Amino acid sequence: MAAIKQLYDLQAVDLELDVRHVRLAETGAALGDDSALKPVRGEVARRKTVAQKTTGDQTNLDAIIGGYEAKIAQAEARLYSGTVTQSRELEDLQADIAMLKRQRGEQEDLLLAVLDEVDQAQKSYTDGAKVLAKREKAWLAEQEAMTEEGARLESELPGLQADRDARALGVPPPELALYEQVRKNHQGKAVALLHGSTCDGCRMGIPNRLAQDARTSEKPVRCSNCGLILLVD
Ligand SMILES: [Zn+2]
Repeated sequence: MAAIKQLYDLQAVDLELDVRHVRLAETGAALGDDSALKPVRGEVARRKTVAQKTTGDQTNLDAIIGGYEAKIAQAEARLYSGTVTQSRELEDLQADIAMLKRQRGEQEDLLLAVLDEVDQAQKSYTDGAKVLAKREKAWLAEQEAMTEEGARLESELPGLQADRDARALGVPPPELALYEQVRKNHQGKAVALLHGSTCDGCRMGIPNRLAQDARTSEKPVRCSNCGLILLVD
């Protein structure tokens, strides 16, 4: 009985150690892992490319329109220069100017549509960049918190381990061996409290004779359902 109480106390320390090891494995895997940010980064990069492309389209159209402006200015200068006197030539020149203006108008219509796209693409990009910045900030804060948590857990391990080792030394070797074996097969649990004839490990009733054994026997008695070592509560 005394040995089983020792095992129960040892289990409490072992479970504390287990919790820390599991959490350390989790934080270890999550540290530096920014895979959750990758889709957002990809989307922002895509929006940036679209914004750059539409701005490029705008620059091209500006240049094309500028080209028409120059040609129109040149033709109009000639028209009003007085050097062209033939009426046929004047008509041709006027027709040229009208055509150039029409073509410029078409490009200006295109430009209006592109300017709209530029605005939308720019807004979409800056909105995305804001979301990304926010996510990255949250990620960094989370990383810092996990680093701190990891350091705290690490610092708690040696004390718990020393406590564990000292307790294990005090347990008779056969009981300790049984404890280790049961623990291995029950997710770290080896001892369960027995309330009346109900095992706290599986919440099921055990035969009265077994419950009686658990109360009187010096040897460990195990639950007939879950197999945990029973400690009378
Ligand atoms: Zn049980």
